[in-house]
Amino acid sequence: MPGHRVDRLAAPEVRSLAAAGAPALWAIGSTEQHGDHLVTGFDRFSAEAVCVGAAERAGIDVALLPPLPYGASDHWLPLGATWSLRATTLVDVLADVARSADHAGFRRLVIVNGHAGNIGPGLTALAETGAGACRVEFVSYWTLVDGAEARALSPRDGGGVGHAGEIETSIALHLGGLAVDARLPAPAGKALDEGPGSPDPVARLPRPLDESPGGVYGDPGGATAELGALMMEQAIARLAARLTG
Ligand SMILES: [Zn+2]
Repeated sequence: MPGHRVDRLAAPEVRSLAAAGAPALWAIGSTEQHGDHLVTGFDRFSAEAVCVGAAERAGIDVALLPPLPYGASDHWLPLGATWSLRATTLVDVLADVARSADHAGFRRLVIVNGHAGNIGPGLTALAETGAGACRVEFVSYWTLVDGAEARALSPRDGGGVGHAGEIETSIALHLGGLAVDARLPAPAGKALDEGPGSPDPVARLPRPLDESPGGVYGDPGGATAELGALMMEQAIARLAARLTG
């Protein structure tokens, strides 16, 4: 059973979905530089693919909200090709859409995130949604994937997501249309020993001008469609299981 895009429905059908207890899925991403080889909307398109796939897999009616194409990406602004919401703006956007889902009668909203910079604002927004009857959840799709299996197929980045590295480039190869083929394999970026996606527990923002002026964190040179398929398949299957569980 496919998901139902609420922006393609009229109000009575949306009200029926809410009244029937359909969960709502909302893909959020970014429009930001992803090295020279991935499209700037990669994070939204990958999160949207997870939502659409999970809605199909779940076998129940699922409401799909229009994906959010902007995220908190200030750290990439120095490299251009980036449109960013300030973190406080993103918190407000997320909380307001969640509030609207509550008013519309939905009892569950799962925000499916495709961009690491959205995690902090996403969790902060959750704190503003507790008063409503709608249960709001936030998940970054790559955290739904078994880490050991991803590592086994990720020789260069060890299963770390990074930015436009092995995992994201693999997903682009799997989904199609998200990579600039003539520029693959792209040059390696900053190694993931201490950057995003690494086991280092200390959080900090990338400093691309100092660390990786090409805008890549990780090494996309080992990317394979097989790794991309694993990431998408597991994320879709586990999100679908949560929707029905
Ligand atoms: Zn990305």
